[in-house]
This record gives sequence, C-alpha cells and structure tokens, in this order.
Amino acid sequence: MKLKRSFYIKTFGCVQNRADSERVKAFYWSQGLAEVKDWKKADLVVINSCVVRESAENRVYGLIDNIKKFDKKIKIVLTGCLAGLERAKILVDKVEIMPIGKISYKIKPLREDGETALIPISFGCDNFCSYCIVPYARGREKSRKETEILKEVDEALSNNFKNIILIGQNVNSYGKGGFAKLLTKVAERGAEKISFVSSNPWDFSDELIEVIACNKNIDRLIHLPLQSGDNEILKKMNRKYSAKQYLVLVKKIREKIPEVEFSTDILVGFPGEDKKAFANTVGLCKKVGFKLAYLNKYSPRAGTVSAKLYQDNVPSEEKKRRWRVLDKLINKKLS
Ligand code: SAH
Ligand code: SF4
Repeated sequence: MKLKRSFYIKTFGCVQNRADSERVKAFYWSQGLAEVKDWKKADLVVINSCVVRESAENRVYGLIDNIKKFDKKIKIVLTGCLAGLERAKILVDKVEIMPIGKISYKIKPLREDGETALIPISFGCDNFCSYCIVPYARGREKSRKETEILKEVDEALSNNFKNIILIGQNVNSYGKGGFAKLLTKVAERGAEKISFVSSNPWDFSDELIEVIACNKNIDRLIHLPLQSGDNEILKKMNRKYSAKQYLVLVKKIREKIPEVEFSTDILVGFPGEDKKAFANTVGLCKKVGFKLAYLNKYSPRAGTVSAKLYQDNVPSEEKKRRWRVLDKLINKKLS
C-alpha cells in the first residue's frame, strides 16, 4: 500500500506568519497530504519565510540548501515574506514560489493553540518606516471585510477558543479609521480576552482608547511599538511621532485606563544612533515603564530607504551592548 504523501511546514518570523501557516497547513491537508514533524520524512517542505532581518533571511537559504543536499526529490514550496520579493526569483531552480496571498482566507485555519485564535484583519503595510522591508514583501495594506472577520471570531468562540488576537502590520489603521468600530463588535461577541498587534502610535485614536476603556474583555496590555526615543532617529526612521508625542499618548491612555500596561518593539543601532540618541531611548523607556519589550538590532535590508541612504555605522558589539542595556532595564527589571 502506498503511504499518503506528506508535508512538513517550517514557519519563520512573526505572528502573521504563524497565522498564515495555520491556513497553509489546512490547505495541504485538504489536498490529501499528511503533516509530519520531521522534514527528512516529508515529500514536500513548505517554508514560510521571514526577511525582516538578514539573519532570518539567511536561515531560509540555509534550510533550502540542507534539504537539497539531503534529498533532491523533496519538493520545496517557498511562501511568506521572501516569496513576495524580486530576489526570491534566484531560487526558482530549487523551489516553487507561492505568494502567501494565494492562500485564501476562505480556508479555515488549523489552529496550533487550542485557547487563543489568531485572526488576521489586514495584510501588508503602507507606512514605509525607512528600515523595514515589510511593505515591499507584503505589499500595500488591504483590510479584510468586517463580516468575514466577525464570522471567523464567531467560529473560534463556538469552538471554545477563549482568547482572540486580531493581527496585522498596523491593525489600528484597519479600514481607514474603522478599527475602533471593528474592535467594539469583536468585544461584544464575548471572548474572555481580545488583544491586537501591532498598533502604531499615530493611528491610536481617542475613539479607540474609549472602546478599550469601555470593554473589560479587551487586553489591558497594549503593544505600542516605540522603535526609538530620539527625535532625530525617529525622523530618519520615518516614524510619524516625536518622543514627546509618544509620551503624551501613553499618558492619555493611562488616564482613561489606569490599569493599562504597555509592551513595545525597539530597534537599537539604527544608523547615526549615537550615545546621546540611545540615552534618549533609555530615558523614554524609564518614563513609560514598559512591561515587556521585543528588542531588535538594526540590520540593513536591501531595497529599503535606510539601507540606501545611511551607512550601518553602529558596530555590532555596540548594538549588542545596547540590546543588553534595554533587556536588563525592561525585561529583567534590573536597572
Ligand atoms: N508592524 C509592526 C512590526 C514590524 S516588523 C511594527 O510596526 O512594529 C517587527 C519588528 O522588526 C519591528 O518592530 C522592528 O523593531 C524590527 N525590524 C524591522 N526592520 C528591521 C531591520 N531592518 N533590522 C532589525 N529589526 C527590524
Ligand atoms: Fe514595517 Fe513600519 Fe509597516 Fe511596521 S509600520 S510593518 S515597522 S513599515
């Protein structure tokens, strides 16, 4: 008897990729393939790739080479962010490229976690922060239809999921100003906890703050990417706020929702980040008192504005040092 054909999926990167992989898996199961947990035993390996840092992109190339060295007969499908970039074309001899947009939202995800449902509400990004490759890899922002999102929320709740995480590169620009309304409707469906990532400071409206304040089942831990606390660096990053504006927003949210806590993303070692600029970031972090931070060391990404305009002039050791300073301060609370 011939055994069922099998697939293995490797997911790199962020929560969007995790959510996409849940639909990619469902797609291959529906094609009659069985999932295996060891790529060496698979007929097909699907790589859901990340390109946000050079190290992530290199891991994708490394895995492709390893598979090809091990067994040329294993078919490789490349999807995720690398599949959206021109430079993926050099891989065509080795892999089939499947843009992630080809996997329809009509496919019901095979969720990894039994309690928390990841629900994408938008795809892509229009912000073009100068260091970031996401708008090139994922294209312009497209919002999903509200009815489709609410249906997915309802299905998750009727399958006993307790938590809902609404995801997108910039969730609070959903539907050009419609995020607060969407969030209200999702909250009314009655999940125990609703979270959302990532929301950017410039789209955090008063209406959104009000909706969070009024709905106790919306997470009191808000993720609000800071990236830097220095005005000059923020400008070079093409982030649309100053350090002061970020603080004013945090204060405003705290006034309306006193129990709120914040998590954040910070990028250390951006070109031109000198000691003073980094000290401004440390100072702002102290003022906000983040609960948690995802810390990243700057890595120039071919195709982005910062890679074109600025030299990557903070030495790698210094990036590591700054990373450790913030890790101690925020994540280990050891200052
Ligand atoms: N849309 C989200 C997430 C973007 S990518 C946001 O606006 O925050 C996730 C994180 O990767 C970013 O917050 C940033 O800190 C980091 N990142 C993006 N480009 C990077 C680069 N070139 N080098 C290092 N880290 C990077
Ligand atoms: Fe990248 Fe900025 Fe868009 Fe986030 S908001 S995905 S950091 S361009």
